[in-house]
Amino acid sequence: MDTKPRFLADAMLGKLARWLRVLGWDAEYVKGRKSEELLEQARSEGRILLTRRQGLEDERLIFIESEILAEQLRQLEASHQILTRSEPFSRCIACNVELQVIDKTEVKGKVPFYTFQTQQEFYRCPRCNKIFWPGSHHAAMLRKIKGLKES
Ligand SMILES: [Zn+2]
Repeated sequence: MDTKPRFLADAMLGKLARWLRVLGWDAEYVKGRKSEELLEQARSEGRILLTRRQGLEDERLIFIESEILAEQLRQLEASHQILTRSEPFSRCIACNVELQVIDKTEVKGKVPFYTFQTQQEFYRCPRCNKIFWPGSHHAAMLRKIKGLKES
């Protein structure tokens, strides 16, 4: 398992897909498609389909057993070490693309003055151009991830 798994979440698993992105994983989320179409997409894009629909069997598919997010993340930790191998905040949660490191001088005037004064690391999403920096919500999320790992 040297290559990073890429995921495709079905309509019931939007929250899980967002958390996978928080953890740095490539996780697409698709609504309103049939399971067969999702499986076809998973195959052609080399993704693992995550679903809560029963009665499907395919080597590219993982049946997510629980409705509870923490349990879902633990299941994927067991199968793919998504917590242990995570790279939190390396990806835009909205766009599912990897963030690029940008120089501090590039964000002057584009972020709040206090943020510019106090932060050193800045990232930009190449798709939506939103600028990110490690803030207090990062600390809260990291605590949550740590809690999941230890429980
Ligand atoms: Zn983005």
